[in-house]
Amino acid sequence: MDRRQFLKSKIAGTAILASSGLVFKADAQNLPTQSEESPDMLDVDVLVVGGGSAGHVAAIQAGRMGAKTVLLERNSQLGGTTTTGGVCFPGLFHAWGKQLISGIGWELVKKSREVDCKPLQDFSVANKGHVYYHVDINGQLYSLLAEEACLDAGVSLAYYQFPEKVTETANGWLVDVVGQGVRYQLRCKQIIDCSGGATVAGMLGMERMRGEERQPGTHSVIYKGFDMAVVNKNKKKIQSMYNQALKEGRLQKGDTWGGNAFQPIQSRSGNCNHIFGADSSTAATQTQTNLAGRKSILRMLKFLKTIPGGEKASIDRMMTETASRETYRIKGERVLTVNDYTSGRTFKDSLCYSFYPIDLHDKNGVKPRKLKPGTFPTIPRSCLIPKGSKNFMVAGRSLSSDRLANSAARVQATCMAMGQATAVTAVLAARQSKTPGDVDLAEIRAELIKHNAIVIGGLKSAKAEPKEAKVESQEAKTQVLSGDRLLVDAVTAHAIGSWQKSSNSKPAIGSNYLHDNNQAKGENSLTFDIKVENPGRYAIKFFYSAHETRANNVPVSISIGGQVTELKVNQQKSDDGGFVLGQFDIQDQVKIVISNANTSGFVIVDGLELKTTKTTKAKLKI
Ligand SMILES: Cc1cc2nc3c(=O)[nH]c(=O)nc-3n(C[C@H](O)[C@H](O)[C@H](O)COP(=O)(O)OP(=O)(O)OC[C@H]3O[C@@H](n4cnc5c(N)ncnc54)[C@H](O)[C@@H]3O)c2cc1C
Repeated sequence: MDRRQFLKSKIAGTAILASSGLVFKADAQNLPTQSEESPDMLDVDVLVVGGGSAGHVAAIQAGRMGAKTVLLERNSQLGGTTTTGGVCFPGLFHAWGKQLISGIGWELVKKSREVDCKPLQDFSVANKGHVYYHVDINGQLYSLLAEEACLDAGVSLAYYQFPEKVTETANGWLVDVVGQGVRYQLRCKQIIDCSGGATVAGMLGMERMRGEERQPGTHSVIYKGFDMAVVNKNKKKIQSMYNQALKEGRLQKGDTWGGNAFQPIQSRSGNCNHIFGADSSTAATQTQTNLAGRKSILRMLKFLKTIPGGEKASIDRMMTETASRETYRIKGERVLTVNDYTSGRTFKDSLCYSFYPIDLHDKNGVKPRKLKPGTFPTIPRSCLIPKGSKNFMVAGRSLSSDRLANSAARVQATCMAMGQATAVTAVLAARQSKTPGDVDLAEIRAELIKHNAIVIGGLKSAKAEPKEAKVESQEAKTQVLSGDRLLVDAVTAHAIGSWQKSSNSKPAIGSNYLHDNNQAKGENSLTFDIKVENPGRYAIKFFYSAHETRANNVPVSISIGGQVTELKVNQQKSDDGGFVLGQFDIQDQVKIVISNANTSGFVIVDGLELKTTKTTKAKLKI
């Protein structure tokens, strides 16, 4: 069967693999191959189950190494608890003034902040509370960027699908996959279980652990519509109304975490209830959990509408499911203990760092237990391999660990680091026909470093990150257009004020663009001086990356031979990467000044293009 028959139904640059529900970038090189035995059986190198905090990173890493990679996700988007669960404040990439986790997770977190035009906090400041080091991100934006990175890495994505049956073979696994309208088999060399509850390990009868009691989950919700002046005047009254509602059963324990009536009013993260018994391990328990979460929210909303200043209360943002903190953990070759974690123990096979206080939530809320200054816990490979298993790894919160160690090691940055480390191990194992536990640790670490991950011993000074380079008041040389077209990079312009360099949205010109960080309005300008060797008519285009956060009134002035044309450019829109400022007759020289005076929103300057128009070309030919 040739490639054309193999692919069908192209939409927006993606294609579907015939006879399966796998979708990938149409020009991907690392596609699953159809087996000779059956048209419904596909051969791949690595299967990742679950596209949450750990799983999407694992899939991207495997794809970037050229492995034929399939990612099965039972929900509709990537990110899991980070996005679908609404816990969009991943932590922690930094501790004690150092960066301990980098790589793909950090790349995407940083990118989502850059697209959102939100500078990162200064991580070099040590000893603030752990909450300071979380990175607030826009969860929905993050899911887009994660998906783009997966597709770019050639990963085959399958939403609404999950493994129905998994059978061990001589060289790996045969996995029966089902989803609405699809049913096929994947033959893979390695499985990485990133389901958050070690679901595949459970299907295979591998030993799993779970506490008698589980930490409560949270159904993330942000309320709106309060008259805060009235709320603030009636604080005492509201708290006693809350206590009364609890007594009468109109509210229940857990509708806020610790009995504080103001938590749901003030929470901007949405993390403001405790859903006891939350359990994401099966469709049935997740359904029960969601119902409990939604009932809690409705109870709270009804109550909030009765308080002074809450008459117009409503829901601003509510996630589609309740997020679980704890389900199953594997029993690995090693079980990470709370002492291992709090002492910052390094194992021979440690693959990445982790950092968080011990953070066990219970019926009374949570009291995080801080680690001693300078402690950097680590996660060894032996906690990511179920005991006695072959060709199988686990990444994410279901790592092999005791409950207390898990309450810290489960955090998102660590899950991302585990995802990347397991993927490197699984791809090397697949290439070398080995099981993950036998892959040379030095090779794994070398590959991780190649992909910008931090390995043990490689802590980076947080000072090096994440500040964008600044361009302050730089002089510039006059640019000369001698042919038909000239591209002038913004970073070469004469800069006044403080501009920041960025490369997040792909620059059209050069490797960076400049932005004003939405600050110091009226103080920043960029001047482009351009000489043309051939007098004539030129089209001038201003390049920038458009976005709704940009200014819609960026002043541009074009001076030619003493005549000045003033324009305002709406950077919320663009045409093919920018805006054509017009066509101008230039005899000798043009001066273009772009400033941030009286703008609201980010001002972005990637560069300028000067192009001869047909008229000029005709003149030149004569
Ligand atoms: C309320 C709450 C607050 C938290 N606060 C923080 C915090 O402040 N900072 C922090 O860093 N961490 C926090 N955490 C912890 C952290 O968010 C999670 O531990 C982490 O995101 C788990 O990542 P994971 O990849 O293991 O699982 P998940 O992100 O849950 O991903 C699992 C994915 O697998 C999919 N899946 C499951 N089963 C299957 C299947 N059979 N087939 C296909 N797909 C499947 C799921 O749909 C999901 O997308 C919090 C967690 C919760 C619940």
